[in-house]
Amino acid sequence: MKTSLQLYDTRLRKKAFISASNETEVRIYCCGPTVYRNAHVGNLRTFLLSDLVIRILHARGVNTKLVQNITDVGHMSEDVGDDLVQESSEDKVLAQAESENRDPFAIAREYEQGYHQDLRSLNISVADNYPRASECIDLMQNLIEQLIEKGKAYQGGDGTVYFDAQTFSTYGEISGNRLDQLKPGHRFDYHDDGAKKFHADWALWKSAGGRTQMVWPSPWGIGFPGWHIECSAMSLAFLDGHVDLHLGGMDLRFPHHENERAQSNSVVEEEAVDNWVHGEHLLFEGRKMSKSTGNVVLVRDVAAKNLDPLSLRLCFLENRYRSQMDLTWEAIVAANTTIHRWREKMHSWENDGELDEGAVAAETEIILSAVEDDLDTLKAIQRIRFLERETTISPKTKHQIFIRADLILGLDLDRRISRDLTLPPEAERLLEERQIARLSKDFHNSDLLRDRLLELGVVVKDTQTGQVWEILD
Ligand code: AMP
Ligand code: ZN
Repeated sequence: MKTSLQLYDTRLRKKAFISASNETEVRIYCCGPTVYRNAHVGNLRTFLLSDLVIRILHARGVNTKLVQNITDVGHMSEDVGDDLVQESSEDKVLAQAESENRDPFAIAREYEQGYHQDLRSLNISVADNYPRASECIDLMQNLIEQLIEKGKAYQGGDGTVYFDAQTFSTYGEISGNRLDQLKPGHRFDYHDDGAKKFHADWALWKSAGGRTQMVWPSPWGIGFPGWHIECSAMSLAFLDGHVDLHLGGMDLRFPHHENERAQSNSVVEEEAVDNWVHGEHLLFEGRKMSKSTGNVVLVRDVAAKNLDPLSLRLCFLENRYRSQMDLTWEAIVAANTTIHRWREKMHSWENDGELDEGAVAAETEIILSAVEDDLDTLKAIQRIRFLERETTISPKTKHQIFIRADLILGLDLDRRISRDLTLPPEAERLLEERQIARLSKDFHNSDLLRDRLLELGVVVKDTQTGQVWEILD
């Protein structure tokens, strides 16, 4: 069943209509976070992709199933395309556990929880399944066994099981990195220790060596899974053997998605994924946002400045997902002002004038068609800005159009905001203090501050996107 959503397919190098190949639901897989640190807002820009796709498909009455993995084991520092490549390859979660002197699973669960909180702050729809790598070891081992049986994988002299890259003739279709162009010593997954048959073969099951944490028994000895096999195993297992739409950030095209495609296709003996779609990177003040660049911004940094985290969402919507976007604090502040202005207007428009249902339907269609055309969210926002100023449409009609548009935009445009702007200066300081207390999980102090604010006539409530306040009449 073909839907009316078109997205640019990286492998096909053209826009393609997204389909529900089982006629029931569009099966979507989006590579999830590696939970060794907080997701930065760049990661969230990529995670917004699945949310937009789902909202658009649901608006057309199409069902979806979204699976997103939680990588809590196997993601080595060297697997990350644009980040620093370190001399010795380290598991990211284990390295973080060591630096915090804590149990790796405790680290992983804490950041996983933080991830879900961040998704809620940005109104990003919840996936149907969040399988954790460490809990799907059997699925990965099963896939590796099948690959060995089919002659696609082998155990090297070092005990590690490798994928035999040369058995997969269409390697490179996603990224353009064909096997014959990959020089020995290219920086991904390469160790010149003679264990592999071919320099571009990659590890499916890594022999534990001296590692003692996050290791499991297997038919090939004690070890741990590679990062790429995780996504093949989970996508095939949780999406019933076929992926209609696969999402991820641009840096995952190679080697992660090339390797995933080779593994999955080799098992199912056809194209396991219909459409591969990638989001461009977020830059912050001119440079790619990443831990190694040192310009990471977190959702909590935005909330701490008393800015609505949904301002980030508006900033993302004002840029096409396929273009790199440069985020600045000025842009976030401007988006915050815009969202507040829209919410104020929504309040005043609600009961003003006659409702023109024809105009509501027509405008909703314009906005939906824009986003269906390769997620042209910029066009949708431009239309919203145009409607805000338009004088031939009644306020009540605008109110309804904004409500419909917000089903896609997800900016909580109908949220009531405090209309009394004369907050006493003392209360302003207390609100700020309380926000910081909540961010540092100091709930005792945050409750005390709430009580002090109440004494000043300010009622504070906590919402998914932070605290909101109202002044008592
Ligand atoms: P990670 O948690 O490092 O595995 O990354 C999670 C997702 O965020 C992946 O899909 C990456 O491609 C994506 N990503 C990483 N850095 C950025 C960035 N600066 N802008 C947008 N997406 C990013
Ligand atoms: Zn993945």
